[in-house]
Amino acid sequence: MKISSSENHLADKSNPSPDNGTLFCTVHTGVATSLRCNKCNRPMCTACAVRTPVGYRCKECVRGQREKFYTAQSLDPLLQAGVGFVLGGMAVTLFSLLRLGDLGFIGWLIAFWIGSTVGAFIGDMAHRVVGKRRGKYSYLAAGGGIAFGAVLSLFLFGLSLAPLIFVVMMVSGAVGRLRLGRH
Ligand SMILES: [Zn+2]
Ligand SMILES: [Zn+2]
Repeated sequence: MKISSSENHLADKSNPSPDNGTLFCTVHTGVATSLRCNKCNRPMCTACAVRTPVGYRCKECVRGQREKFYTAQSLDPLLQAGVGFVLGGMAVTLFSLLRLGDLGFIGWLIAFWIGSTVGAFIGDMAHRVVGKRRGKYSYLAAGGGIAFGAVLSLFLFGLSLAPLIFVVMMVSGAVGRLRLGRH
């Protein structure tokens, strides 16, 4: 008996029958409707319904969905640029101090190989420092910070090809990590 009563309950929920009383749109209170938002479950008319990949939803829920994706706060880009600047500058300084540039071609290969890994790591740090909030311009902030810190370091320790390759790979690694849809 218990099973059949829960089945009835489910059936009632998915197919609201007219016996439940006519529904009126929450926004347009005079408009009768049989549609409900599948997120907040409020009645809505066809003018209010928005078709989404997961079904019909009210405009408020759709807007909330969009805004929830970008959760960055106003100081986040500054923090991320700071992280990029410090870590990027440190990484290039270390790279220059190791004198990998003296190895010639092998130094370029090493720069190429570890640059993007270090960049992805810095991108990850920049993502964590803001509590993993997503921002439209996170990748620009962190990438710009890294580039700025790296150029400053190159200026102090001398410009050569291996550290330059390292910087380019590092920036692209961080940008790749922070671009939307990667996490
Ligand atoms: Zn809704
Ligand atoms: Zn309506």
